[in-house]
Amino acid sequence: MTEIKILVEGYAKELKKGWVASSTSCLITTEDKTIITDPGCNRDKLMDALGNEGLRTGDIDYVFLSHKHPDHVLLAGIFEKAKYITFDSNLVYDKDRMFEFDKHELGKNIEIIDTPGHVLEHLSLLVKTSKGRIAVAGDVIWWRDGEKQTFNIDQKDYAQSKGMNMKDLVTSRKKLVALADYIIPGHGKMFKAEK
Ligand SMILES: [Zn+2]
Repeated sequence: MTEIKILVEGYAKELKKGWVASSTSCLITTEDKTIITDPGCNRDKLMDALGNEGLRTGDIDYVFLSHKHPDHVLLAGIFEKAKYITFDSNLVYDKDRMFEFDKHELGKNIEIIDTPGHVLEHLSLLVKTSKGRIAVAGDVIWWRDGEKQTFNIDQKDYAQSKGMNMKDLVTSRKKLVALADYIIPGHGKMFKAEK
């Protein structure tokens, strides 16, 4: 069985000039793999959450990285034995070896999906669990702290990243809503995917 747990709920507090932000980080366990998604940039929160699960950094087999932004990837390097599923030309990195991954590289119940828009190179996961199909969306959808979490397919992306494409982003959102029962956003709370 494949199960998913939110280790750190992502947050994004907008300041006058900048943000205080770190991404949602999940723990996915399959029959033979322990996987972390977007480890983020808040070391204390991540280490506390791993400790609560009885895990050390060396226990992680794979790290999934949705996209290149530091609030999602800054802590990626702390997992000594992990392979990295990356947005970078859809390559899995095993130390200095890199090769193209199959969309089921992480297991038969986990699909790696291309979801461009927030940036061109952006991946999400669709995870089949006992509680339904859960999408790890990365920043296909996210909220600022204090913002009402009402899902709207055309919702503005406040990051306004270089290379952002709103049309692609809307298409990626539609894809995830169609496939998933629940969506875990890059920053904010998990929500039900209303069809
Ligand atoms: Zn983000």
